[in-house]
Amino acid sequence: MSVATTNDTMPAPAASPSAKKARRTPAPQSSFAPWKDPNATPIVRFENVTKRFGSFVAVNNISLDIYEREFFALLGPSGCGKTTLLRMLAGFEKPTEGRIIVNGKDVTDLMPYERDAVNMMFQSYALFPHMSVERNIGFGLRQEGMPAADIDARVDEAMGMLELKQFAKRKPHQLSGGQQQRVALARAIAKKPRIMLLDEPLGALDKRLRQTAQFELMHIQESTGTTFIIVTHDQEEAMTVSSRIAVMDHGELVQVSTPGEIYETPQSQYVASFIGDVNILECRVSNVLPDGQLELNWVDGTGKFVAQPPPSGATKDQQVWLALRPEKVRIGLDRPATDVNAIPGKVENIGYLGSISHYHVAVGNDESVTALRANASLAVDNTINWENDVWLDWPADAGVVLIR
Ligand code: ATP
Repeated sequence: MSVATTNDTMPAPAASPSAKKARRTPAPQSSFAPWKDPNATPIVRFENVTKRFGSFVAVNNISLDIYEREFFALLGPSGCGKTTLLRMLAGFEKPTEGRIIVNGKDVTDLMPYERDAVNMMFQSYALFPHMSVERNIGFGLRQEGMPAADIDARVDEAMGMLELKQFAKRKPHQLSGGQQQRVALARAIAKKPRIMLLDEPLGALDKRLRQTAQFELMHIQESTGTTFIIVTHDQEEAMTVSSRIAVMDHGELVQVSTPGEIYETPQSQYVASFIGDVNILECRVSNVLPDGQLELNWVDGTGKFVAQPPPSGATKDQQVWLALRPEKVRIGLDRPATDVNAIPGKVENIGYLGSISHYHVAVGNDESVTALRANASLAVDNTINWENDVWLDWPADAGVVLIR
């Protein structure tokens, strides 16, 4: 895990509404939304930032604002430029073009140690093997020349926050991977940065520990009021912890939205497919109805669909894709009352996961659609079996029309 922070005085502890909300569920309607306020000043601003390594473009002309107390996630596949963007913010890489503003100050040409509002926790932890846990945590503060009594108080506070007091005298090699990760986080926290950068902070943990650690991170972010910027390739992690997610692809930002918006209204097939499961049906617009809804002809079958238009609109004959989340597709043995948004198919696979079942249904010309059903009670209709002829249908507001 790597955390980067800037070393201004940290704001007074305060609850972050975003994190509180996120702890329960990704919260599209959280009241914490400074990015919607035209008068809000971002704490971090990337201005047309490009980073080239030789002729290779790792980050391509990114402009992005991040606000105080956000838990912001950079999400994308390996090699898409997430770490490079974070390292430029921390000062370990210099942009080839563009500017980085932190707390109103242009830091583009500053060295990492001159960016006192930012601190970074590294994926490798970068702990000193010969130092005890408490010495490791206090290292940055000693470098700053802080009085010993103040260092002790800070270290004690950070160890308390991360439940490390019992390990204070141990060396890193006497700790588990997860405990080392907590020491690295405590060391970054102890400096009380305003902005904490974390590169795959939970990468070393197994799935169960990782979920617990995500809540720990959210708690720390919430109780310290620090702005967290996290790099992850784990979509569930980004959905769980963050106020907003920036999805990256090949050095570019493809969508920056809240977890709820990313899931419910992805702007491209790439984002829809990257976050959660999705069915994508290629269509052509056959008509734009007077109320603005689109009538669609399915390219791979005989279905006719009606759906809301994308924000940019769509025109007759345009090629589009209808994205449908599996949980929004109803599956049944009986033909629905209407033929609109309904297609026949044959069950080719059933995945029983206890609380839910996935039905993989062959439809149209060699396509497959997944429907998901909750196995809420014993009364649930279990009569749908492999090889059954079934109908799939969904309401007009269930699908999202994508133009790319
Ligand atoms: P991962 O999740 O695998 O860490 P990432 O999205 O964080 O990936 P980056 O580490 O930012 O990706 O790298 C983006 C691209 O830039 C990659 O193709 C990488 O090989 C390249 N790259 C990064 N650092 C350098 C460097 N110092 N010299 C040359 N190429 C680099």
